[in-house]
Amino acid sequence: MFENLTQRMSRVVKTLRGEARLTESNTQDMLREVRLALLEADVALPVVREFVARIKEKALGHEVADSLNPGQALVGIVHSELTALMGGDLGEGASELSLATQPPAIILMAGLQGAGKTTTTGKLAKWLTEGGHVQQGRKSGKKKVLVVSADVYRPAAIDQLKTVAEQAKVDFLPSDPSQKPEAIATGAVEHAKRHHYDILIVDTAGRLGVDEAMMREIRSLHDLLNPIETLFVVDAMQGQDAVNTAKAFGDALPLTGVVLTKLDGDARGGAALSVRHVTGKPLKFVGVSEKLDGLEPFHPERMAQRVLG
Ligand code: GDP
Repeated sequence: MFENLTQRMSRVVKTLRGEARLTESNTQDMLREVRLALLEADVALPVVREFVARIKEKALGHEVADSLNPGQALVGIVHSELTALMGGDLGEGASELSLATQPPAIILMAGLQGAGKTTTTGKLAKWLTEGGHVQQGRKSGKKKVLVVSADVYRPAAIDQLKTVAEQAKVDFLPSDPSQKPEAIATGAVEHAKRHHYDILIVDTAGRLGVDEAMMREIRSLHDLLNPIETLFVVDAMQGQDAVNTAKAFGDALPLTGVVLTKLDGDARGGAALSVRHVTGKPLKFVGVSEKLDGLEPFHPERMAQRVLG
């Protein structure tokens, strides 16, 4: 992803030897390359503008160390700003799930239909069951996890979660599409308490586009469940459109984090930058395959490194 950024920048690095300071004129070409590379990576235009402006502000007047040329110094600034924009500015641990609460810790999954909510519910349940979760730098051990679907609109949705849960070898609570989502949620919390589950993950209905009824419903589920994590699941392939979806969900719900799915299929990956910027919330996981082990915790520094190559 973004292979162009490194290539584009290294072309300019070569042309910028022998100057001691970054100036308006010697950074111009480089900033243009950064801008183009990010646009090619499908980062939303307002995000690109703000990013480039931030780099420029940091760069101007910046003394160039003896060992570097202005181009290399600028690459360093781009790298650290990219890490910040990816969430490095939120500090250590921001990408971790927060589960420290009276059990069951409730995780609410939100997002459009097809974003990967159900798959991610299964992946996350498997990861937590197997003890993948890290809290304050330490593995927090295997968890007892229950998943439930509150999607009563798509007839196959509940069955799909059942299948995913079986494959992931995690506990699935059957729900009945004739029930109201709120009733399913309340029943699931009671069941989880009674059977001493550490974590309850609630998969919700998605629509093809953002609509008022969906937002009302998920808000009411949120009020009822008071989840410790409300994760917005978004498809990296959505590119620029991810910005609008992220904004709508971010306005409707107090999101605690973002899961960016299908990064394996996304050559450009600009959605990572855009969604982080628009929601202000940390990316917590990335989906990297259709398989149920295809979920990875998100690392801002690693992602920035990957962007730069
Ligand atoms: P939902 O409607 O939001 O619940 O979305 P689903 O979980 O049904 O996922 C929609 C499609 O995306 C399915 O075919 C999934 O297998 C696929 N999918 C989900 N996450 C990933 C991922 O990280 N990588 C890839 N390649 N496919 C994914």
